[in-house]
Amino acid sequence: MTKTREKRRSALRIRRKPGYRRIATEEAWAPTEMLELYMKLMAKRSFDEPGFRSLMGFYLQSPSERARQVAERLQWLDERRIRDMDDSGIDMQVLALTAPGVQIFDRATAVSIAKSSNDQLAEAVRTWPDRFTGLAAVAPQDPPAAAKELERAVLKLGLKGAVINSHTHGEYLDDDKFWDILEAAEALNVPIYLHPRDLPRTMLQPFVERGLDGAIYGFGCETGLHMLRIIVSGALDRFPKLRFIIGHGGEALPYWMYRVDYMHAAAVRSKRFASAKPLKKRPGDYLKENIYITTSGMAWAPAIMFAQSVLGVDRVLYAMDYPYQFTPAEVAAMDAMPISARAKKMFFQSNAERVFNL
Ligand code: CA
Repeated sequence: MTKTREKRRSALRIRRKPGYRRIATEEAWAPTEMLELYMKLMAKRSFDEPGFRSLMGFYLQSPSERARQVAERLQWLDERRIRDMDDSGIDMQVLALTAPGVQIFDRATAVSIAKSSNDQLAEAVRTWPDRFTGLAAVAPQDPPAAAKELERAVLKLGLKGAVINSHTHGEYLDDDKFWDILEAAEALNVPIYLHPRDLPRTMLQPFVERGLDGAIYGFGCETGLHMLRIIVSGALDRFPKLRFIIGHGGEALPYWMYRVDYMHAAAVRSKRFASAKPLKKRPGDYLKENIYITTSGMAWAPAIMFAQSVLGVDRVLYAMDYPYQFTPAEVAAMDAMPISARAKKMFFQSNAERVFNL
């Protein structure tokens, strides 16, 4: 049996009318011109970004058939993507510019590609409003411009939040130079999706030595660290209504919550760690109150049910991570999770409708 036919057979086992809409909330796309700019960057000898080369070099330059298919599917914003969604039982995708998005570019290029990609995404959403919705790309390299672009994307284009692909040239959003963006998201009442990307140079070496720098482990470590930095920086005391979304089962943070709370309190008390500052609440409280998590790449009932039990069933959302982890069988496994019908509808549909204001 050919691979395609096998895929169709497994897709056929997905229930067609399960009693909820399946909204996949961390689905990637890329405008062709951005991928061309990536290729141009990688062609420059002087371009010194080993993490980016390792990741995007694979998808854009390796002879692997899987890599070629992912790169191609990233660029589909039309019937071809919808056919894949139909084959895998997905009713709607929340689209975001793929990592590292515009954050690899210089400031001017980043600002310009963020705008043009938001225009293209909004056009697709206007064409297929029942199937696509999306998050705005912004350029943290220019925080005031990023705040303005987020406002334009939400108020004029109808996009539902921002995607930020973790660090920007090795810097993190807890630095108050980026807080124009946080302030804008809070004022517009839209979430920021903090998505992984290739590791910064300062973190890369011990991961890359054992092939652990990508989605296997490195992404989760770096993005979990980024989210935790934002929490312990006090940014969420300054912007108490701000909401973040993190993927991949919450980048392991729900599992760490008890120890982080315990050790953070100890660090603040002992003053041994000069940079540990007191917060209005425990770190885990921000995790429960300001943060939503999705299950991109983590279609595993025990991890999902654990996260639901510590954060609440209203805070865990389904995501597939198309096209990187396009696995139709996963949807059937999620349908079969041993949770109540009410919890399942929240997981697949109503949490996403509420968080993204759909
Ligand atoms: Ca992803």
